[in-house]
Amino acid sequence: MRSPHLNRLDSKFQTLAAPRGRKGVVYWLLLPHAFHLQRGDGLEWLECGAIARLEWARHGFSLRRGGSSAAPAQGLNLGFTLADSREAVEANRLRFFRALGVDRFALADLQQVHSARACRATRAGGGVAYISMDAAAPAPTRLPAQASLKPEADTLVTDEAEVLLAIRTADCLPILVADSDRRAIAAVHAGWRGTLAGVAEAAIAAMGRAFRSSPPNLVAALGPSIRSCCYEVGPEVEEAFRNRWPGSETFFQRRYPNARPMLDLAAANLAQLHRSGVPSSQIHVAEFCTACRTDLFFSHRKEGARTGRMMSVIGIKPL
Ligand SMILES: [Zn+2]
Repeated sequence: MRSPHLNRLDSKFQTLAAPRGRKGVVYWLLLPHAFHLQRGDGLEWLECGAIARLEWARHGFSLRRGGSSAAPAQGLNLGFTLADSREAVEANRLRFFRALGVDRFALADLQQVHSARACRATRAGGGVAYISMDAAAPAPTRLPAQASLKPEADTLVTDEAEVLLAIRTADCLPILVADSDRRAIAAVHAGWRGTLAGVAEAAIAAMGRAFRSSPPNLVAALGPSIRSCCYEVGPEVEEAFRNRWPGSETFFQRRYPNARPMLDLAAANLAQLHRSGVPSSQIHVAEFCTACRTDLFFSHRKEGARTGRMMSVIGIKPL
């Protein structure tokens, strides 16, 4: 399925898509082939090489190009928004899922609420049921399976085949995790509030509780998100991080002394994963800024609430 020209496409794409202010060549040398550009059925998506090497897993980070949505969500909008038609989003999703070979999987997704809460997705009838993985709960709680009552959480985990874990983003950080030993997976939505609440750390803990996943066996892919070049936040955000996460000053940059802080979501989540025991050699970051590159990605910060949403998905193939 991989194109014989992939490496050439890959380096060209990475050079083109390097964040503003970085020299493409230097960037390419620093990040050789952690992520690949994949193409199929007229669409393009990003794939993390380390997860792609697991023959039992399927995954992808959608890009904007292709798709049938009109402005302001022009392109492959995969989130239901007021500014786009339901028909266009459903057609886009079907096209994306077919291109990835996951159109027969049952879709598991969430009401994303910027929390650290996790849900286990399990097949039920023709769809998916969700079991709360809240560490504080005395016992797992089975949540309603109706689509209109999707659980409020920001992490999905499963070890069942043909369940497609999906996270929608337009600047927030999507994280896909695979356990090469237990054949279990997770998908995480990390904006600044979820990151502050420890969503990545909680996701690794949830995998441990649900599947006995051991962090040294995990591979994590941090997809495209807004980066410190574009993500200005208030000083109270920096202070909240400082109080919660010792050492978090390295997640913030300033354009000049006394300027407002700029947050690097990927750095903050990478630190949480590393602290949870995932080896740094198994954590891969897609070095793209969604706000710098609205030709490739949807960006809430750059384009406003009416823009579209990317989708990051991971599932387990049937035996
Ligand atoms: Zn940027």
